[in-house]
Amino acid sequence: MSTQSDNRFQAIISHAKEYGFVFQSSEIYDGLSAVYDYGPYGSELKKNIRDYWWKSMTQMHENIVGIDAAIFMHPTTWKASGHVDNFSDPMIDNKDSKKRYRVDHLIEGFAETLTEKGETQKAENLLQQMDALLAKEDYAELKELIVGNNMKCSVSGTCNWTDIRQFNLMFDTKLGSVTDEADTIYLRPETAQGIFVNFLNVQKTARMKIPFGIAQTGKAFRNEIVARQFIFRMREFEQMEMQFFVRPGTEGHWYQFWKEERLKWHLSLGVDASKYRYHDHVKLAHYAKEACDIEFDFPMGFKEVEGIHSRSDFDLSQHQQYSKKKMQYFDADVDTATGKPYGNYVPYVVETSIGLDRMFLLILSNAYDEETLTKEDGSTDSRVVMHIPAKIAPIKLAILPLTKKDGLPELARELMNECKSHFRCFYEEKDAIGKRYRRMDAIGTPFCVTIDHQSKEDGTVTIRYRDTMQQERVPMNKIKEIVLQQIF
Ligand code: ATP
Repeated sequence: MSTQSDNRFQAIISHAKEYGFVFQSSEIYDGLSAVYDYGPYGSELKKNIRDYWWKSMTQMHENIVGIDAAIFMHPTTWKASGHVDNFSDPMIDNKDSKKRYRVDHLIEGFAETLTEKGETQKAENLLQQMDALLAKEDYAELKELIVGNNMKCSVSGTCNWTDIRQFNLMFDTKLGSVTDEADTIYLRPETAQGIFVNFLNVQKTARMKIPFGIAQTGKAFRNEIVARQFIFRMREFEQMEMQFFVRPGTEGHWYQFWKEERLKWHLSLGVDASKYRYHDHVKLAHYAKEACDIEFDFPMGFKEVEGIHSRSDFDLSQHQQYSKKKMQYFDADVDTATGKPYGNYVPYVVETSIGLDRMFLLILSNAYDEETLTKEDGSTDSRVVMHIPAKIAPIKLAILPLTKKDGLPELARELMNECKSHFRCFYEEKDAIGKRYRRMDAIGTPFCVTIDHQSKEDGTVTIRYRDTMQQERVPMNKIKEIVLQQIF
């Protein structure tokens, strides 16, 4: 990360804390690594992103329904899904500093420094080699790649590495009071399995016909070894996932469909398209047909925010095998090639999986702006403004009486009462108006309304727009409509 991007990232992290978006968990005890709490504005923003995703996926797609499965699941779930045996990352330790690295992160970090030095081609070759070796799980050669390129530990500065080993990322705990092996259960490392095990319950009760999807949002837990970069990589985080069940043979079409549809969703939040790119996976799980990441240009460079995966019938077939319960769907549609119904089959799945916290960081990173303003007299001023899209902003409207007297607060309260059941409003009468505007800019409030003495006479108020800072006088009874128009 360049110093400039690093400074920007640090500024965003400080801002997030200072303005009540994100706090370190258990801060008074010096925090818990890679675990975070969301504050008053953060929890609003997070909820708004989740609701926006939920609405786009379920309400806007008639063939997608939601569920809310428990975090704890029968332990066999994780045997069947492959997580017990395979949910691990290749790690390498530096023998001198004892610092542990994820192999891909170490190599990617090294490639980044090459790029910064202008050795772009070398960096690209290195990443290609890494992808190929990870795909083959050739850990001896991967170590050779690290040692051969003289990649050093950032703490010890040495190249004294252990062999590469695998570490499982699942947290386990005990169910009930008996502490033998059989009672070990896991905190789910993804929400998807709650969808797979409920596939038939949902299909039957909601009378879904293929193709259809099941959506879910909820907490997931991973014992990330290298947890850093703020809320980008957490040990407790939230996912928003959708599994789309399709007839075998149509998965290529649906994979393309969801790849495009999900990028459209991102762009619908007004983020510049140049800040996104697809990254197609070279290393595919043995059951996967295709997979890609949607990457965003975070302050620390392009990184994954969402994954689109064509997963074949792997998950349902595994659950069928382990549970000995049929996971089949009866397709009454007629196959034009044979003239007969498609009949029973285990559906194929295309999955879209996005991290809510990562999306939150994306919104913060994209919104954060330090502006220098030139005043009419030529002097300069500055403001920090969060250009959060109005539809997900924590507070939509700030209602600010110019003074605390002369009946202005009463008038302001009237507007508050008219609007607060429709969208989140904020009322404040303390401090100079300029100061109050700045505070609203800092939390990303798109509209501020000032009530002054003229308001009492002619019923008009001043509305101020966050991004342009333009102000206009409008009738107070139009405010609710103006805001509603902008937030849907
Ligand atoms: P990464 O390569 O960054 O570890 P992944 O490929 O393991 O991510 P998936 O298993 O595909 O991630 O999970 C889907 C989404 O969940 C990711 O795109 C990301 O947004 C989010 N996610 C995964 N792990 C974390 C984490 N530790 N903290 C926050 N979000 C996460």
